[in-house]
Amino acid sequence: MSKVIKKCEKCGALNDTVYANYLLYGFMICDSCKLSETLFPIV
Ligand SMILES: [Zn+2]
Repeated sequence: MSKVIKKCEKCGALNDTVYANYLLYGFMICDSCKLSETLFPIV
């Protein structure tokens, strides 16, 4: 469990914001995907 969560499960990009969003929302997504989810929620 030493690996820091950085890989976005939607776009596959490595980003430091993925871990922060994982803690906040429980989803391993980057800020870009978070924004697009906010604008266009995926059902
Ligand atoms: Zn992403």
